[in-house]
Amino acid sequence: MSNANPPATFEAFPRRDGQLHVEQVPVADIAEAVGTPAYLYSAGALEAAHDGLAGAFAGRPALLCYAIKANMNLAVVSLLVRRGAGVDVTSGGELFRALRAGADPARIVYSGVGKRDDEIRAALEAGIKMFNVESRAELRHVDAVAGALGVRAPVAFRVNPDVDPKTHPYISTGLKTSKFGIPIGEATAAYAEAKALPNVDVRGVDCHIGSQLVSIEPFADALALVRDLVVELRAAGHAIEVVDVGGGLGVTYAEEVPPSPTAYAAAVTGAVGDLDCEIVVEPGRSIAANAGIFVTRVLYQKGSDEKHFVIVDGAMNDLLRPALYGSYQRVEPVGPARAGVRKVDIVGPVCESGDFLAKDRSFPSVEEGDLLAIRSAGAYGFAMSSNYNGRPRAVEVLVRGDRYEVVRERESLEDMIRGERIPQEL
Ligand SMILES: *Cc1c(COP(=O)(O)O)cnc(C)c1O
Repeated sequence: MSNANPPATFEAFPRRDGQLHVEQVPVADIAEAVGTPAYLYSAGALEAAHDGLAGAFAGRPALLCYAIKANMNLAVVSLLVRRGAGVDVTSGGELFRALRAGADPARIVYSGVGKRDDEIRAALEAGIKMFNVESRAELRHVDAVAGALGVRAPVAFRVNPDVDPKTHPYISTGLKTSKFGIPIGEATAAYAEAKALPNVDVRGVDCHIGSQLVSIEPFADALALVRDLVVELRAAGHAIEVVDVGGGLGVTYAEEVPPSPTAYAAAVTGAVGDLDCEIVVEPGRSIAANAGIFVTRVLYQKGSDEKHFVIVDGAMNDLLRPALYGSYQRVEPVGPARAGVRKVDIVGPVCESGDFLAKDRSFPSVEEGDLLAIRSAGAYGFAMSSNYNGRPRAVEVLVRGDRYEVVRERESLEDMIRGERIPQEL
């Protein structure tokens, strides 16, 4: 990894004269030009997050593979790839995006429980670094597809150490009851099977226990088990050269204090640093989350004694995390806070009671037309968006310094129905 001396901090969203900015551009100016709802990303913040983590592993044989599912915009991926990142993909579609963004195939790892044969073939044709295989059934498919292509497939098994990451159940992936990986107790047999297959090369061991981890212990516990497994596998004659420690490093949405990149790297290298392996890390959220905001405009307000609703033009189809996980993201007015504070629900126009961006939040008074910024929206924001309720997906904008560019146009109504047909014969 390069860039050993990252900027200590980068103030991506400063407030100047009361006005929220992305780097040096007033958010209101961008919203005026591109409309709302909109995702705005700071190039400097993406780079600082990448460099901070990459720098923490400097001097080690380590590869940062950005988990593209967090934010797969080509501009974002390209920026990180140019910074030296590899990519962690979880589908053929993400592989396509990674390659289009200029990723080096030799720095792409492919995770995911349900790889189809056509996706496996595309990854082999591209020449990726490694498949993180999640079942023995998948292993046999990887072997067969590689055999048909006349190539060898580099593989690791994703092992499931049964460690509780103490995060939201939907983003816990390393428990015995999880669909991900193979139980670590079955790894010996799985690796033996892999070794006997003609078209796969065993390269490593992979482990990813969950997302938004805010303490170091679950990482340390899981990696201690991975370390023992590597020693055991080597004793059984497997050439384990890569330990992929997954992603999952948490970020600050509210008051959380996640491990620093340095503390995280120390835990990783403390657990597996003496194995003489290349270490792959797969961060997604910790690179992108706090490099983005979601900007929406107040449409209406209504209320009773019980509840006050601020109805905005952004909704769960644009930003699903609050609805899906009940998660908290900071919200602030883009302009100076107006006088008066009250408890509000900030909700979108979608016909679901689960459609909220913030609930029971103490918030300054707002007026129709005011812009609001939802913070920490750079990861699992646009990436999880949909057309639900016939809503075109939002525009995405990348800002660097005093310049900005639209990096994904707002969907048009025509875009939204592309590919649909009204049958003539049925
Ligand atoms: C989602 C995912 C990641 C990234 O997780 P973050 O919490 O965003 O860092 C890494 N590896 C795999 C296999 C994943 O599924």
